[in-house]
This record gives sequence, C-alpha cells and structure tokens, in this order.
Amino acid sequence: MKEKRDCKIIQDLLPNYIEKLTNEETNHFIEEHLKECTECQHIFENMQKELKVNTTKRDEREVKYMKKFSSKMKLLKFIILALIIIYVIIVGRRTFIMTSLSEKANENQVHDNYYAKLYSYQGDTLTITESYNKGEDYLTTITRVVNSNQIQKIIHYKKGNEQITLIESDGKMYMQDSKEILNRQIRPVTYVSNGLFANMQYAFIIGIDKTYCNGKECYIIKGDSYERYIDKETGLAVRAIEKSNKEITRQTDIVVDYKYEFNTVKDSDITKPDTTGYIVNQ
Ligand SMILES: [Zn+2]
Repeated sequence: MKEKRDCKIIQDLLPNYIEKLTNEETNHFIEEHLKECTECQHIFENMQKELKVNTTKRDEREVKYMKKFSSKMKLLKFIILALIIIYVIIVGRRTFIMTSLSEKANENQVHDNYYAKLYSYQGDTLTITESYNKGEDYLTTITRVVNSNQIQKIIHYKKGNEQITLIESDGKMYMQDSKEILNRQIRPVTYVSNGLFANMQYAFIIGIDKTYCNGKECYIIKGDSYERYIDKETGLAVRAIEKSNKEITRQTDIVVDYKYEFNTVKDSDITKPDTTGYIVNQ
C-alpha cells in the first residue's frame, strides 16, 4: 500500500525522473508508485506537459535565430559573389582592351616605312629623337638640350651596307665608321604585353581609363610608378610618364611623347649626313 510520506518523496524525484537522471532502482520505485497513486500521476502528467511546452518554445526561438543567421549568411555570400563577378569583369575588360591594343601594335610594328619623333623631358633636359625608316635603311637624329643649349647630338645613318654614327658632344665631333655598329633602329613603342595570359597578369595590377592625349583618343594605363598613354587606333605609345621614385633615386619624372607616321618616308629623307669636321674614332 502507498503511504502519504512516499508521495512527497516521489514528487521531489519527478523532475529528475522526467529528465531521465534517476537510476533504475528509483525509476522502479517511482513507476510502481505512479501506478497506484492518481494524485502523483496527475502531477507527473502536468510536469511532462509543462516541460514539453518549454522545450517547444526554446526550439522555436532557436529556429528563428538560425533562420535569421542563415539569411545573413546568404546575403554575405551574395555580396562576396557579386564582388568576385565585378572584379572578374573589370580584369576581363582590362585584359580585353590590352589584348586588342597589342594586336593593333603588332600590325603597326611590322611597318617598314615609318617616321618617328620622340620628345623626352627630364628636369631641364630635353631629348628630341627624329627617325626616318624605310626598309632596312634609317636616319635617326638624337639631340639633347639643357636649358635651350644643345649639349649633344648623335646621328645614326644606315643605307645599304653603309653605316655611320656621328657624335657631337662637349664641342668634340667624332665619327664611328664601322661595320660593328649595332642596329640603332628606333622601333615603334607600345606598352602592352603580347599575348592574352601576359595581359591578364598585367590586368590585376594596373588601372585603365579612356582619355585624350596629344590630340588622340587613348587608353591610359596606370601603375604605381608610371602612366602610359596608348593610342586607341594604333596600339602604340603616345606618352609615357615614369614617375620619380625614392627607390631609384631619381628626382624628376621622365615624360616621353611619341609621334608616328606610316608610309610617308621617301628615299630622299634618308641621305648621308655631312661628315666634315668629324674625327674618325675606331
Ligand atoms: Zn503519491
């Protein structure tokens, strides 16, 4: 028979029993009691219900939180993906522009009839390079001027087998007349790489914008220490700026302006320079 004293003990044990914390012997004792005591059974059922409701509430809160968290994660993933796509588009666009410029430059660099004029400024020094090129022949004049005073002039001449270099520097005039003179031909310059992969690598580290330079529609390619203007039409350099940089201990920027003309050079543009007064220096 049950005793009222037991009820008190059983009711104390019930919460632990519901959470399955009680041992087997206690379980048996509780279960036997519950079979016979409707009062304790009633309390047991209520306790169970209450626990269930609490658990459900807690679960709902967790689900709500997880939903909120996962929608935040989705947004973050979306933003990251969008940034990757934008980056790929930007790099792709740069690669495309440079590749198409390098194709145009390749076409123009194989011209064997071209005139080139370069102005190179660095501080108060101006170097003017003027070059006529026709087939294998060329006449190039390089003049260096400091504060409006010409300090050096070099002429490279090649026609057929004849090759001469004339140098006028510090009031001295001498001539190199040797078959050993290296090829001094001034080739048209571009600043885009050749090939898709090289341009793609390049595209990660530079910026490209459309602009105008020396009256031409250009793309400007910007790096840390340089700006290069490339003619949209020819793929060739229009202007290059090498910025002064502490690492290379240069005080001033170097600016070079490039100008090219194609198929305008005549044989008469490449005539042998006057060598009077030049001392042969072999
Ligand atoms: Zn009881």
